Amino acid sequence: MEVIVHKYGGTSVGTPDKIRNVARRVKEVKDNGYEVVVIVSAMGHTTDELIDLMNKVTDNPDPREYDMLVSTGEQVSAALLAMALQAQGCPAVSLTGGQAGVVTEDIYKKARIKDIKLDRIKKELKAGKVVVVTGFQGVDSQGDIITIGRGGSDTSAVAIAAALHAQVCDIYTDVDGVYTTDPRICPDAKKLKYVSYEEMLELASLGAQVLHPRSVECASIYNMVIHLRSSQKEIEGTYIMSPERIIEEGGKMEKKEAVRGIALDENIAKIGIFKVPDKPGTAARLFGALAADKINVDMIVQSIHTAGSQADMAFTVDKPDLKKAVAITEKIAKELGAEGVVSDSDVSKVSLVGIGMVSQPGTASKMFAALSGEKINIQMISTSEIKVSCIIKAEQGKQAVQLLHKAFGLDKVA
Ligand code: ADP
Ligand code: ASP
Ligand code: MG
Repeated sequence: MEVIVHKYGGTSVGTPDKIRNVARRVKEVKDNGYEVVVIVSAMGHTTDELIDLMNKVTDNPDPREYDMLVSTGEQVSAALLAMALQAQGCPAVSLTGGQAGVVTEDIYKKARIKDIKLDRIKKELKAGKVVVVTGFQGVDSQGDIITIGRGGSDTSAVAIAAALHAQVCDIYTDVDGVYTTDPRICPDAKKLKYVSYEEMLELASLGAQVLHPRSVECASIYNMVIHLRSSQKEIEGTYIMSPERIIEEGGKMEKKEAVRGIALDENIAKIGIFKVPDKPGTAARLFGALAADKINVDMIVQSIHTAGSQADMAFTVDKPDLKKAVAITEKIAKELGAEGVVSDSDVSKVSLVGIGMVSQPGTASKMFAALSGEKINIQMISTSEIKVSCIIKAEQGKQAVQLLHKAFGLDKVA
């Protein structure tokens, strides 16, 4: 029997009515003769609320207890969905990540999934039940509950779909597909029928919250098609798959367009370190210390003072890591004899993404001209073959997305 894997995000299971609605859809698939596994996120903003609660209790939460706490949201929605299915006459069972065999690395808060031991899921499917699995969590080698990073239920779903050799992983959410940019920011954004893994990975990593970046990475490793679609409307969404498969399906890769999508990341902060002695090993020391504490550093720029013996450095980190990153940077700055450290959380990153950029020069300069035309100051720049990112003032982030969307004609793509 073919197995179908669905994932429902927080908004899609945000109320009892929505949970009953999801149960109806899932039951329909089961009644059509499929085995069904459903991965769920926590209801609505539950995870944020749990973190707010935590912040009222402590400034310095123990990572193990953080995972114990924030993983509970998914247990609520999974149990409620299983009950809603049972109430509609559909046999169902809910499983935690651990019960479902999801094994992670031994790292709290952002672990990767190492393995999925399918025995329990297979046993429940064989017994004729819909299996509802909590997203966002697994267990480590000593059985502790581990979470896999904010937004991680997408990754749980793709990993489980890959382990079960499903044909496709259907990810149901509150938009009906991947758009040229966040449709909440830009109402002119256009829905894309196909997006390649490479472009989706860049868009997601650069802040397009619609998919967890690691879900795209996992899908590309296992060549698993992701169908991102609406939990409200019964229409086709966006297929995320390999370029070969897109062409097979009759889709164009649209390489003519240099820019395929725009992402805005409002979850970053900037750290500057002044007058660092300009000698070998400085960057290794600073970024080594940050990496040792699992702090993800993104854009890095270094400028040389005219005197030549000192440099200024600036880099970005995720906002939740800012406090810890500043403390580490201040300590290393002192050891290195640097003059000082500043930080700024009032910044956003706007990025253009497109495989076509490789063959079409001029994207970056056109972006800078469009931003300067609206008096938006660029604080940092980073480029790769398929993206250009600029750090700008946070309050100008949405305006920048809107004007770049127009400047690159994304409101007109077919
Ligand atoms: P879920 O709770 O289902 O996981 P998320 O809130 O994580 O849903 O992701 C869906 C949201 O992603 C949309 O509501 C939309 O505002 C945002 N988004 C950001 N960039 C894009 C994009 N390029 N296309 C579609 N949605 C996007
Ligand atoms: N509930 C978790 C979060 O809010 C995981 C997810 O939604 O994917 O980050
Ligand atoms: Mg999400």
